[in-house]
Amino acid sequence: MRTIRLLIGSAAMAFAALCLADIGYKVKALPEQQRLEVTMTVPVTSSTTALQVPSWSPGAYVLRDFASGIRDIRFTSEAGKELAFTKPEAFTWNVDTANVKALTATYWVANNPADGAMHYSGPPTYLYVVDRKTEPCLLTFDLPHGWLAVLGIDERRDGSYRAEDYDVLADNPVTMGDFLMDSYSARGKPHYIVYRGRLKQHIDREFVMRMCRQVTESQAEFFGGLPYSKYVWHFSVSPAMSGGGGLEHLSSTQIGLAVGVGPSTMYLCAHEFFHLWNVKRIRSYPLGPFDYTQLPKTGALWWLEGVTDYYASLLPTRTGWFGRDEFYRQVESNVNRTRSNEERLKVSPYDASYRVGEANNGRGNSSGFGVNYYNTGWLLGLCLDIELRTATSGKRSLDDVMRALYDQCKDGRPGFEEESIRRELVRFGAEKLGEAYDKWVMQPGELPVEQQLEKMGLSMRLRMARDPDFGFSWTIDDPSAGLRLTTVDPSRAEVLKAGEQVVEIAGVSMRSATIRSLRDLASQVLARQQVGTELSIVVKGEDGLRPVRMMLGSKVAERLRVEPAPYSNPVMQRLRDAWLGPAREKTEAVGSLARLELREAA
Ligand SMILES: [Zn+2]
Repeated sequence: MRTIRLLIGSAAMAFAALCLADIGYKVKALPEQQRLEVTMTVPVTSSTTALQVPSWSPGAYVLRDFASGIRDIRFTSEAGKELAFTKPEAFTWNVDTANVKALTATYWVANNPADGAMHYSGPPTYLYVVDRKTEPCLLTFDLPHGWLAVLGIDERRDGSYRAEDYDVLADNPVTMGDFLMDSYSARGKPHYIVYRGRLKQHIDREFVMRMCRQVTESQAEFFGGLPYSKYVWHFSVSPAMSGGGGLEHLSSTQIGLAVGVGPSTMYLCAHEFFHLWNVKRIRSYPLGPFDYTQLPKTGALWWLEGVTDYYASLLPTRTGWFGRDEFYRQVESNVNRTRSNEERLKVSPYDASYRVGEANNGRGNSSGFGVNYYNTGWLLGLCLDIELRTATSGKRSLDDVMRALYDQCKDGRPGFEEESIRRELVRFGAEKLGEAYDKWVMQPGELPVEQQLEKMGLSMRLRMARDPDFGFSWTIDDPSAGLRLTTVDPSRAEVLKAGEQVVEIAGVSMRSATIRSLRDLASQVLARQQVGTELSIVVKGEDGLRPVRMMLGSKVAERLRVEPAPYSNPVMQRLRDAWLGPAREKTEAVGSLARLELREAA
């Protein structure tokens, strides 16, 4: 582990002599003016040079108005002469470059520094030259004194960054300024964990490092190596206790990281990292080289997003980060989400993917047309995986299909044709798998999750659950101060008030070194409490400390439950072991607390 505190004294101004063949981008950070100034230099090859800004960001299938963010744009020749231009549509500038050798475009985009750091994404920031997106791009920075920039492209000796084409440049977000950074090495390659935002001081950096390393190593093992020369985790720290959102990139990811680093944070990191292969390199052919003017049409988003999510749940269990119970909770959650949407009976997973651009009045919604391709795709991954495992007596699995698709696409080869998924399924599992694909992927309807789980000796059914009703929810702002009550049910209003701090629960002090470790501790202590018993807590209110005793009533709810079935036999047990990894039914630490997160504040 190597920890680096940035904002050191050395100047980080990096101007490179522009190589004439490359399209140049100089980004000047102006934190006080809350903007980034971009100077783009283009060797001219025709009498009119067309520049465009993307209308969407790869990975997020939603049309965006990035054009209105390009401000005060002007074009000059190598002699400094202002060049005329026309604007046939909002995102295109046709510049008159007759008798001009080099075109310079200057503009700025708004960027709010957060706690001294700036962060930006490629597509809203960089214009491209129409029909010349395959040319190399050279990026340089002009930064305030003491600032450094971190991105997933290797830095050259002169401080510049060279991307082989526009797609690579645009797919490398940048963090710069005052941030915290840790690094680790995996398979001989450097990995950087970059934290920004006010709450970065409260992150359990040692734990996050372990988590990122676990994700990196388990997935490198799965695919047999790491497909980049360096990797950057760009984390923006949010006050949430778990969860968050992210976007995948070629050699980095942008993640809103919950300061509590709950179990779903692990899934989020595993999901974005798995995209390094599935989406970024195993991609259907419309997903790169990109047409940035319109959303891509691919029927494979259920595979690219949903099956990615399936592996993000499966691998942390298979490699021992969580126990099997945590994976079963993921099955339940995806079934609940999928089956709460009636559209599943009308729209196939293929169409949910292919028609995503029709959602949201033709602007796309990044989750699917009618049906959500994340949770439906997750269940499809499960059903197809079990089908393949049982059809081949455990000799083959979805892992083989994933790796075969990677072999087909890796090393910069074109994306796969969409029937490739079906073809590989049939290759490993015979025609039975083709029939399953035709029915489950290409047609609307209910996925046979119960029947598939039964083949692995697991049952899924509705059970009455009786959980203790604490009558309050909480969050953590400061791990040395305890849990802050965010809501208090009317039944507890006489003894508790929202805003008060809980400093002790059942004799255990609610103080810890980090928000993550306190979140974990509090969740474990609360998970041990039983319905019908008395819970004692110590609360710190306006008048100081006071003990509170409360009877724990129960909340009864019908809940879907996946668990080993009584009819499970040794054959099923063997299949299950190969699928979920060495038997560890229960997660002792963080993982078992997923259910309790529901009680925590968002
Ligand atoms: Zn994703």
